[in-house]
Amino acid sequence: MGEAMARHAFALLLFAPLCLAGPEEACAWGDEGHRIIGRIALPLLTPQAKARVEALLAADPDTLTAPDFVSRTTWADRWRDSDRNTTKVRYMATQQWHFVDIELTKPDLADACAGFPSLPVGTPASAGPAQDCVLDKVQQFSTELADPNTSDAERILALKYLLHFTGDLHQPLHAADNHDRGGNDVLVLFGRHHVASKLHAYWDTAVVERIGRDEAAVAAEVTSTFGDRRAEWQQGQPSEWAQESFAAARDVAYALPTSTVPDEHGTPAYALDEAYGARAEATAREQLAKAGFRLARILNEALP
Ligand SMILES: [Zn+2]
Repeated sequence: MGEAMARHAFALLLFAPLCLAGPEEACAWGDEGHRIIGRIALPLLTPQAKARVEALLAADPDTLTAPDFVSRTTWADRWRDSDRNTTKVRYMATQQWHFVDIELTKPDLADACAGFPSLPVGTPASAGPAQDCVLDKVQQFSTELADPNTSDAERILALKYLLHFTGDLHQPLHAADNHDRGGNDVLVLFGRHHVASKLHAYWDTAVVERIGRDEAAVAAEVTSTFGDRRAEWQQGQPSEWAQESFAAARDVAYALPTSTVPDEHGTPAYALDEAYGARAEATAREQLAKAGFRLARILNEALP
């Protein structure tokens, strides 16, 4: 078993039950998706931005993940889940920051983002209101990372949150909701599975695994495939990126069969056919590329 596979199997064993059984949102892109986004962004950093990022990472004593750039893309999920089954302090303070539930039936960005609450003066973004959304947090942490008055400790947090939230913003089911907790209440069957699983989890992990299990190879392939669109995709603002993710959810993720079939326990689920899988994979490829390209832009702008 290769290193990547071993790590993947390990991550699945450790974290999949937590993600799938959670009462609230599941995990966003699984670890593989986030790590691919990190691997896309890293080679696109300017030498100046890369040096400043490396210095911040080197100064961070946190041990929830390994300290390198790619591993830190999963830190915000680890932080959120670190007291999820105990005191829930970190969990309650940050869990809403991972998504923006734009309603399919009544899409309204401000509604989905708790009315875009302003950060109280003097409050660092890492201590901002719990009722906030992923695109707001991407904006706040970008501003903070660029601000010379930000403390070193807060700058490290801003970097780690950006490494993760830029990814979450591009998971279609983290930007859309159909009164089903972003697809967490929708059950599907796909591939060789005989037991229904959640549509949200399909988009977090199964669709990424379908692209490939070697995260470095996937990152390189996606970067090259969409290389000629990079400059175009790096334009825009987090609110527009959220709308794009929403459109992908509406047009692809929620384009489900009209009726369900029973799984092997008799639970009704939507059977996703190969056409759905192929469209989902194409969409996920683009969303991973966009997330990686845009993460690089954010860091290059914030750390010139
Ligand atoms: Zn997340």
